[in-house]
Amino acid sequence: MKQILILGAGTAGTMMSNHLRKSLPSDQWNITIIDHQEYHFYQPGYLFLPFGIYQPEQLKRTVAEFIPKGVELIQEKIHRIDKDSNTIVLQNKQNVKYDILVIATGCDIAPSEIEGMEGEQWHKSIFDFYTFNGAKNLRDKLKSWEGGKLVVHICEMPIKCPVAPLEFAFLSDSFFTNKKMRDKVDITYVTPMSGAFTKPVATKELDYLLKQKNINVVADFNIECVDTENHKIIDYGGKEVEYDLLVTVPTNMGDELIARSGFGDDLNYVPTDKETLQSKVKENIFVIGDATDLPASKAGSVAHFQAEILLKNILSFIKGKPLTEKFDGHSNCFIETGNDKALLIDFNYTQEPVKGTFPIPGIGPLKLLEETRMNHLGKLAFKWIYWNILIKGRPIPFVSNHMKIAGKDIQKAETV
Ligand SMILES: Cc1cc2nc3c(=O)[nH]c(=O)nc-3n(C[C@H](O)[C@H](O)[C@H](O)COP(=O)(O)OP(=O)(O)OC[C@H]3O[C@@H](n4cnc5c(N)ncnc54)[C@H](O)[C@@H]3O)c2cc1C
Repeated sequence: MKQILILGAGTAGTMMSNHLRKSLPSDQWNITIIDHQEYHFYQPGYLFLPFGIYQPEQLKRTVAEFIPKGVELIQEKIHRIDKDSNTIVLQNKQNVKYDILVIATGCDIAPSEIEGMEGEQWHKSIFDFYTFNGAKNLRDKLKSWEGGKLVVHICEMPIKCPVAPLEFAFLSDSFFTNKKMRDKVDITYVTPMSGAFTKPVATKELDYLLKQKNINVVADFNIECVDTENHKIIDYGGKEVEYDLLVTVPTNMGDELIARSGFGDDLNYVPTDKETLQSKVKENIFVIGDATDLPASKAGSVAHFQAEILLKNILSFIKGKPLTEKFDGHSNCFIETGNDKALLIDFNYTQEPVKGTFPIPGIGPLKLLEETRMNHLGKLAFKWIYWNILIKGRPIPFVSNHMKIAGKDIQKAETV
């Protein structure tokens, strides 16, 4: 009997366990998945939790509920990978052998990377919304906050769902407007990038929205430390931004098990072939989702597009054939803009987000790079799609793993 081991039972790992069990004969292949967490969280919902749009219990299900029959689940922390002996060492010192390894351990916030961030003011005047507890604590803070300088901030790229902090700023604008206290809140968006987003056409649209909503932007801000006594963040060039309430996205990092295993970059991301998703560490190790070092967005939609490609490549690897399936960097993301509207972007490694229709070219019903109510309903529907289709590894109707050119106004965008 051969063994496939999946590390991490979040979005990508759970999807892969479903795909692999359907495709591999159970009398030849054992499949085991390992995760220390009891609960699987719907992370896109963390954006809505602080504003009371979702309740905590809507975002949490048990990990075990989504692991298919015929896959063994081990609930234990993974300590390290010994790639030379094809063995995983668990925190309880148990070893697990594998023939093929799939790393899907994602990434998490590391507030301790920035001086002053995780001290006494953490979750008092400095909050994250990238964790379940962070988003819940921020919800409690916002209920009674009387206003002042709200700073929405990104420490460094890459982060998962790179548009989430922008969405947070937009939702704050409508939240405080609805509470009839927008005049008491000064919102500033502080980013290490030179504009609202990484890609020029989308940045132009988003900059316009930031202006329209009276949100100040401080760009090219590379944070050095938080001065909690004087309530300001300071960057390496000496720039300072004052806050009363700091909502930050701390540095995102892969799990320390990657560093302990002797591979991974400075941020513990696993070197991965950007097309085949085979690791550059050893040929029987594959990587999916946020754990990779790929220049694609770290998003659940990306993990979904990668999953079928990775499945086909693992099946080819088992047969000793070349890995011919290629991931093109396809990413798809709703951007909630407040007042029950949202934008949608669809792009890949080479094609930046442009205007158009999605998923059916010329029809939609969703509009790319345009604020619509239909897009907002699409964003809300994503929660249902996530629990019922996405992590079960089922195809989403009309949405293909490779980005479609049809339906996109590419020529118009090139003349912008
Ligand atoms: C605020 C926010 C908003 C977002 N919005 C969107 C959105 O609108 N659309 C979208 O597509 N994506 C969105 N995302 C991103 C999306 O949630 C992630 O990209 C996706 O969950 C990545 O899947 P993954 O499997 O790679 O990692 P995860 O789902 O994070 O899973 C990693 C798993 O590995 C486990 N693990 C890690 N280390 C160990 C260890 N040492 N031992 C045992 N287990 C371990 C963890 O417990 C976890 O269960 C958002 C994320 C956030 C935080």
